[in-house]
Amino acid sequence: MTDGAGAFENFKTQVQTAAQTLNLDDGVVDYLTTPQRVEEVNLTVELDDGTLETFEAYRSQFNDDRGPYKGGIRYHPMVSRDEVRALSGWMTYKCAGIGLPYGGGKGGISFDPGAYSDDEVERITRAYAAAIRPIIGVDQDIPGPDVNTGQREMNWLKDTYETLEGTTEPGVVTGKSLESGGSEGRTDATGRSITLTARETFEHLGRDLAGASVAIQGYGNAGSVAAALLDDLDAGIVAVSDSQGGVYNPEGFDARDLKQFKRENGTVVGYPDAAEEVTGEELLTMDVDLLIPAALENAIDATIAEDAATDIIVEAANGPLTAGADNVFESRDTVVIPDILANAGSVTVSYFEWVQNRQQFYWDEQRVVEELEAHVTEAFEEMVQARDTYDTATYREAMYVVAIQRVVDAMEEAGHWP
Ligand code: GLU
Repeated sequence: MTDGAGAFENFKTQVQTAAQTLNLDDGVVDYLTTPQRVEEVNLTVELDDGTLETFEAYRSQFNDDRGPYKGGIRYHPMVSRDEVRALSGWMTYKCAGIGLPYGGGKGGISFDPGAYSDDEVERITRAYAAAIRPIIGVDQDIPGPDVNTGQREMNWLKDTYETLEGTTEPGVVTGKSLESGGSEGRTDATGRSITLTARETFEHLGRDLAGASVAIQGYGNAGSVAAALLDDLDAGIVAVSDSQGGVYNPEGFDARDLKQFKRENGTVVGYPDAAEEVTGEELLTMDVDLLIPAALENAIDATIAEDAATDIIVEAANGPLTAGADNVFESRDTVVIPDILANAGSVTVSYFEWVQNRQQFYWDEQRVVEELEAHVTEAFEEMVQARDTYDTATYREAMYVVAIQRVVDAMEEAGHWP
């Protein structure tokens, strides 16, 4: 279930909680929870049958104190002004927390791309690129992929921008394919940071990831790559689900084989190695060592949290826990490692891509993997230190303290003008 207004309220609560710990003035807190600009563009596109359809689309530019706005473009029927506001806010603190010289932004088109032909999706994407062109740019606002968008859409965005500007500027968008100026390691980046974060979390708690049981909600790019990498570390992927249902096997799945099955069949449901099928909700309340919500925001509310049995949650999706769920987990000392750290690998490798585009010098995959690991482990350490220093109730609050302090420092150093 997604609800943009709920997501934005949730985001505000997260920032306000950490802002209180930092004793920030109300005016500053308002600033930190309000986007600088939300552009709405309505795209009228000709469909294959010659009829016209108008699509509602947005780009939210939340904050640019630390650098250009940065964040993905989402294609989903639930995309709304409130949803992109929340997602762009999360990007701001994600980039600050992991130490990238970026602000935060997010955009989206409210439609289900699966219901349109490839040609129609291309025309919708190019219409969107043309509409937001005046407000994006390599030093202004840099889109990237998000839910239901990937290399193909990013290549079209880049091409539309470059054609209209009469130049080449691959760094205007990230998440492109390798031949269009993308980076090695970009596709696996989210799954990799989720895995690194899980590894650091288990080590920090003095627990063994090898042999631990893991349930993953969502088997798309983030969930399936994380599953494969966790499998490599000998964790047992015992349950996975997607929008059509879930599968369970106490012995653990071969994550790569399951990914192949999903690629061929469009769902994990029906996977022959499953001991039983489970519903999405059953998966979220399973007694596992590690739960990874890797689908959409608000997936776990207070009611599901009450029934949940895991000790550790690593958030792969953006905003998968409601504020109510957070309260339940806090009261029970369930460890929740926040999205703005765990899934930050995605934007971090986008940053590497942007750096490579600007230098016109390309890295090998090993360098990407090493630099990503350095960013994630350092941010994890900073979060743990902030938790001690400020005695925060949760790891989320600690990560926000680190991130907010950086944004506030940049804002104050610049002064207030006009
Ligand atoms: N969609 C990614 C996220 O939520 C970021 C995309 C990007 O700008 O690289 O973190």
